[in-house]
Amino acid sequence: MQWRGLRQSSNVEDRRGRGPAKIALGGGLGTLVIVLIVWLLGGNPAQFLNLTDNPEATGTSAELPANDTLSQFVSVVLAETEDVWTKIFETTGMDYRQPKLVLYSDQIQSACGFSSAASGPFYCPGDEKVYLDLSFFREMQTRLGASGDFALAYVVAHEVGHHVQKLTGRLDEVNRLRGKTTEKEFNKIMVRLELQADYYAGIWAHYADKWKHIVETGDLDEAIRAAGAVGDDRLQKQSQGYIVPDSFTHGTSEQRMNWFMKGYQSGNPSDADPFKDNSL
Ligand SMILES: [Zn+2]
Repeated sequence: MQWRGLRQSSNVEDRRGRGPAKIALGGGLGTLVIVLIVWLLGGNPAQFLNLTDNPEATGTSAELPANDTLSQFVSVVLAETEDVWTKIFETTGMDYRQPKLVLYSDQIQSACGFSSAASGPFYCPGDEKVYLDLSFFREMQTRLGASGDFALAYVVAHEVGHHVQKLTGRLDEVNRLRGKTTEKEFNKIMVRLELQADYYAGIWAHYADKWKHIVETGDLDEAIRAAGAVGDDRLQKQSQGYIVPDSFTHGTSEQRMNWFMKGYQSGNPSDADPFKDNSL
């Protein structure tokens, strides 16, 4: 991908090298136990410990440069999604509220609770932020064979796709069905939600290519491999002991590639909707 020199988003928060886990450890075993109990009771341990925005939490910046190539790349892709979705929302008379993107390592406290790097990239509707652990991406490359910067771009665009679902009300709609339908039915709904995020990632690729010609030959293959790499079937086959919590709701590699390509070819978010596709 030809991305150097393009606009970088100002919505990236680099929180690598600091996190609640490190401070909790400093508090000794007793603190850990309390943190665990609060967490098990569904509470927010960071609130209990008053740890959020603790200035002492900053550290290891030498080990993790704040402005390295990967974070610059992510900022460019995020800026790209901002341009694309602002434009698309404008045509429907809606405002596109830009999401923040948080880079983290180890563990992170979000409005969605504690998450560890092992949970992979995710979007939290509560604070409208995309959480990305770059070590997950490196792991994805080595373990699952997805390679190239376009694969990372695809992951960012997919998570931003969930943010678009939040803004259009789709996420809320789906959330209201939680617990009101069988687990099997709900799982199907979640697959559709994921495939729509893939479709939206395809929309981003469509415009990224059209406006800035940043998509090179081979990029789409990479994106498709990435989509395939995080598909249910591939994960189950290739990565023993590697857990992505919502992997069972992501759809198969083939479905994901399909919907990404649909979005890429169309460029129009309302051209296709997995929620209206009876074959799923
Ligand atoms: Zn997703």
